[in-house]
Amino acid sequence: MAAAPHHPGRRAGGTPRAALAELLAGNRRFVSGQPIHGHDVTAAAAAASGDQQPYAVVLGCIDSRVPLEAIFDQTFGSICVIRTGGHVLDRAVLGSIEFVVGQLGVPLVMVLGHERCGAVAAAVEALRAGERPGGSLAHLVDQIAPAVTEVGVSDPRVGPLAIRRHVQRTVAALRADDLLVAPVSAGHVAVVGALYDLATGEVTPLTE
Ligand SMILES: [Zn+2]
Repeated sequence: MAAAPHHPGRRAGGTPRAALAELLAGNRRFVSGQPIHGHDVTAAAAAASGDQQPYAVVLGCIDSRVPLEAIFDQTFGSICVIRTGGHVLDRAVLGSIEFVVGQLGVPLVMVLGHERCGAVAAAVEALRAGERPGGSLAHLVDQIAPAVTEVGVSDPRVGPLAIRRHVQRTVAALRADDLLVAPVSAGHVAVVGALYDLATGEVTPLTE
């Protein structure tokens, strides 16, 4: 018989540490092929029909290989998810995170990058070619380009290194956000970066 789901961080005012432990425990269930929420869709939806009390918000990439609720083995109502190409920030993303932290009391914001990210590759290519793409794709490239430049566009490992650097830059930008800076500096909210391994399914938090 499966153990009852345990949600130590799943309440307003929970600690960032408990929330991170919960997320990583879900990822371990996913990696081990033993999700407890994977197929319980109907019952989970019914259980989540009241008010929501998510314990974390995860900002990830749109990449189809990185579905966030699945890789953290999360059920309905447990985490908020935001996905943009290369987890690039804009005002809508920032406002959404401010809402989740400020109004829902969520103590953990995770920025999740992944290897072989197409958005980061597009930024590398744009810098190499010296050509900015058209349309709003330019916004994605512009936001990722500083990470590529910091690593060095001619570095043979620019792809993987820029992915990591871009996660760190995104984390830094969130920590400096007008409405997040106070709760973060008080320790009530943590903003952490992590990387997803496409081969193993493992999420590894980045050490600073
Ligand atoms: Zn990506």
